[in-house]
Amino acid sequence: MALQFPEGLKRRGPAIARALRDEGFQVLVSGDPCYGACDPALRLLEYADVLVHFGHSEMIAHPDIIFEPLFMDIDPTILEKALPLLRERKVGVVTTVQHVHMGEEIRDYLESRGIEAVFQEGGSRVRYPGQVLGCSFSAARIPGVSEVLYVGTGVFHPLGVQLATGARVIALDPYTGDAREVDAGRFLRIRHALIEKARKAKKYGIIVSLKQGQNRYTLAKRLESLSDTGFLVMTEEVDPDELLNLGFSCYVNTACPRLAYDDQSRFPVPVITPAEYEIICGVRSWDDYQIDEIE
Ligand code: SF4
Repeated sequence: MALQFPEGLKRRGPAIARALRDEGFQVLVSGDPCYGACDPALRLLEYADVLVHFGHSEMIAHPDIIFEPLFMDIDPTILEKALPLLRERKVGVVTTVQHVHMGEEIRDYLESRGIEAVFQEGGSRVRYPGQVLGCSFSAARIPGVSEVLYVGTGVFHPLGVQLATGARVIALDPYTGDAREVDAGRFLRIRHALIEKARKAKKYGIIVSLKQGQNRYTLAKRLESLSDTGFLVMTEEVDPDELLNLGFSCYVNTACPRLAYDDQSRFPVPVITPAEYEIICGVRSWDDYQIDEIE
């Protein structure tokens, strides 16, 4: 049995490996980086009958992979903190996989306060109603709903929901009770400045991930066709040092969307999204800015 843990859970590996060995399993642990269900350690199946991927819900159907999310309870009464910010009587509710199992409790609590909560099924990358990922906000696109409550930590997911839907978004941290309305203004100003910097590049490397759940080769080919200054760069890991060595003065990222957003400071040159490259190539206007998602 092979075990794979995302970065935040890796330290639990030894204890889980020990417990499984005590149950009679032969175990091995993946030592490679892992950030999502998009990246199951398929090669370990050459050495094991089954791969258990912890921390994420199923994204890639495979008979020998077991996806084992880690659910974390929250106290539904913490939703009280978000109530003063909600304007609508019917709101969409989204969260990350850690809290999707709390859907009934969240719905009951909001309904006890006179608010109808809508949990919508998302696309093929998510498994639970109301679940969002850093690369998929499909569960937040709810017909007839103009306000969305994000229950979870971090700033990127609610920002993505706001940009993907145009809805008013309230973000609630279920541990601290901190609630706020999302404002994408600063994010957009930073992206605008980055696009202007990226315009000066003479040659663009269009990154294509070889990871199964991040591979957008067809999109990359379409981007390549937009300009004779773009060249496909195929890679397993998007590594800043390797990108520097390759020598392109800008990269267009079709791998995990969060690389271009969260990790910008790690890269030696601008790393832009497919839609941002389309703006540079003149086939998309800034007014039609789009957050990057994987279908
Ligand atoms: Fe997470 Fe990125 Fe993979 Fe999407 S592509 S599941 S955001 S690591």
